[in-house]
Amino acid sequence: MKNQPKSAYVHIPFCTQICYYCDFAKVFIKNQPVDAYVATLLGEFELAEISELETLYIGGGTPTALSAAQLDRLLAGLTQNLALEKLQEFTVEANPGDLTDEKIAVLKKNHVNRVSLGVQTFNDKLLKKIGRSHTSQDVFDTITKLRAAGFDNITIDLIYALPSQTLADVKRDIEILLQLDLPHVALYSLILENHTIFMNKMRRGKLDLPDEEADFEMYNAIIDCLEKAGYAHYEISNFGKEGYESKHNLMYWQNAEYYGFGAGASGYVNGVRYKNHGPIHHYLETIDKKVTQEKLSQKEQMEEELFLGLRKKSGVNTQAFTEKFGQDFDKIYGQTVSTLIDKKLLERSHDSIFMTRQGLMLGNDVFEAFLLD
Ligand code: SF4
Repeated sequence: MKNQPKSAYVHIPFCTQICYYCDFAKVFIKNQPVDAYVATLLGEFELAEISELETLYIGGGTPTALSAAQLDRLLAGLTQNLALEKLQEFTVEANPGDLTDEKIAVLKKNHVNRVSLGVQTFNDKLLKKIGRSHTSQDVFDTITKLRAAGFDNITIDLIYALPSQTLADVKRDIEILLQLDLPHVALYSLILENHTIFMNKMRRGKLDLPDEEADFEMYNAIIDCLEKAGYAHYEISNFGKEGYESKHNLMYWQNAEYYGFGAGASGYVNGVRYKNHGPIHHYLETIDKKVTQEKLSQKEQMEEELFLGLRKKSGVNTQAFTEKFGQDFDKIYGQTVSTLIDKKLLERSHDSIFMTRQGLMLGNDVFEAFLLD
């Protein structure tokens, strides 16, 4: 399977709550055809005839919104034909409130070795304000149970710049995170998306969000605290202890190919980016699950290589870029790189270009500069 992707993403679009900021492809789980969905998804996976994967990532939605029996069927079905010795990282996203002992046992039994918890904040008032149904105590209990079951590779997602959140609140979240001594964390600034409850509130003037300056201040404080505590800031939003960087996510940022399964999932196979039908009934009813397929031009591939690669702290190796695309990197981008270095958004060392702290904060400005005419 030389040219086949070594990674797969599986989408579970069900949630037991609908968070006020979320625009992911998901629906409230009640009365949804979950069993039919799992069966269809396993059928889609089987058709791809995959025998080896290095990383497998089950995201959502909330995979742990499934019952223990449904989760077991899904995970066992996905792994039954895989060469497990090749599977280095098998991640399942989980909601702290959903993870019962039974579900944790299902994860363990089915070779999951990394759990990603959607924590968002340890502040119970803020959790309520953003529509989450778990509490900080649920998070602590879940982490204790996961560790007792033998999971040491636990990552959590936190969000900052939440409504009315202060710098002191963010620092408090980081303090608690450090006390938990987890090997990995991803921190995202709240982004207001269309068609969310928060966007509606904002339009009605009822959302008190920190301004851009406060957002930068929070991001700076997060990086300082986590780096001081021994976490490598290896991607714009991701921090890991040595050896715990996410292999699956690094695969995306290295612009590698991967399968995507499930409603609304995206994949990248044989130079084609595709997206599956999003609405669950469309996904269930169509034979060909893909709704869009786009063969990328070389220009698009080069742009993606830079946008994705520059997200990593280590940036992009210009020599490898030249070899991969058969085009001299400096001939195409030399001027852009010089301009960004003058603006202190980019640095260059030997064959690598990478973003400065300022560049990481203003990532979109950097990415835009690399768009080709
Ligand atoms: S943030 Fe996660 S749990 Fe909340 S609605 Fe979105 S997908 Fe569901």
